Amino acid sequence: MSSPEYPKWIDDDLQKIRDAGLFRSRRTFKPLPGGRCLLDGQTLINLSSNDYLDLAHDDRLIAAATSALSEMGVGARASALVSGRTEWHERLESQLALFEGAEAAILFPSGYAANLGVVSALASEQDTVFCDRLNHASLIDGCRLSGARLRVYRHDNLEKLKRELEKVTGDGKKIIVTDSVFSMDGSLAPLVSLCDLAEKYEAILMIDEAHGTGVWGATGRGLAEELGVEYRVTVRIGTLSKAVGTMGGFVAGSSALVDWLWNRVRTQIYSTALPPAICAAACEALEIIQAEPERRRVLFERADFLRKELQQRTNITIPASNGPIIPIILQDPDVTMKVAAELQEAGFLVGAIRPPTVPEGTSRLRVSVTYAHTQDDLVRFLKALDRSLARNVESR
Ligand SMILES: *Cc1c(COP(=O)(O)O)cnc(C)c1O
Repeated sequence: MSSPEYPKWIDDDLQKIRDAGLFRSRRTFKPLPGGRCLLDGQTLINLSSNDYLDLAHDDRLIAAATSALSEMGVGARASALVSGRTEWHERLESQLALFEGAEAAILFPSGYAANLGVVSALASEQDTVFCDRLNHASLIDGCRLSGARLRVYRHDNLEKLKRELEKVTGDGKKIIVTDSVFSMDGSLAPLVSLCDLAEKYEAILMIDEAHGTGVWGATGRGLAEELGVEYRVTVRIGTLSKAVGTMGGFVAGSSALVDWLWNRVRTQIYSTALPPAICAAACEALEIIQAEPERRRVLFERADFLRKELQQRTNITIPASNGPIIPIILQDPDVTMKVAAELQEAGFLVGAIRPPTVPEGTSRLRVSVTYAHTQDDLVRFLKALDRSLARNVESR
């Protein structure tokens, strides 16, 4: 069978992507326990994973999922409202509400689906959405889909946001949307100031705790808990696919909000429910997060150690922040790919992040530390990094 004709613009566009040094190629990984993975036959220390608390491979999650699998099979078979919502979905939603200290919670197939669906349901053409320039793509896409006016601001200078909020008149809703922990920077949204502005200008504040849930806050509820503003945030979104070690997105909030989302959010209504076994594993993960706070403490100790060490290097830029996401900004996309490849040869996997995921001129290695990584892993990583930087990056 010959392949069908396809338009020349696909070849042209592929060439354009390659010429810009931005072609994304795919590889096949095998995750291993202990913060490791297997790639091309080589065992690597995986510093590119969002499994911050080392739960994805935990025996207790595997046992919970296995038991639910034998009971209910693999797929959910239908969307939640039709017949896909099992006892495990219900249990996870109540457990999430309890965990988050909210009246109710609603699950989504993924964090992406939650963000896309919730923003586009909340906002419509006559509304204005205020988006941080570093927000995750799913939030930006939700804004675009909604048809609302989009205003972009920077969280390191809220004057612009304030001016834009002042300018909006009329009956349209004002919605401020932000990541709590920025995924490629590890920097934190100034939630207290954002709450102040939202209250002053009668705006809805929606935050995405994708990298906050399980990691930040005294009980692991996220950055809003850490900064004491949970009760001031209208919509809190999270994902179960990062520190919770499983899959799925969720919103925690008032019963009215959750009832409304069940009736209005298209990515919930028109998508198959999560596999029940995944929900069973996530229930187990939430219990572990509450019962074992030392996972968070050790995670922050390790991350602090690595960040402080990296900040002493003069040939790289490490943004000031806290927590397990540590970007090493190398600026040039080719240098970034080269250093990532050399680190891989030396036994370490780190994310090499280029535009359009990050702004032009800020290509970077995105290092994420997890609870599984030992001090020795990190010391060895620093040695390999220093060798590669010496070859590829001039001292500034
Ligand atoms: C990963 C991520 C998402 C998407 O979550 P998934 O569950 O992976 O679809 C949303 N927002 C942010 C900030 C993220 O980093």
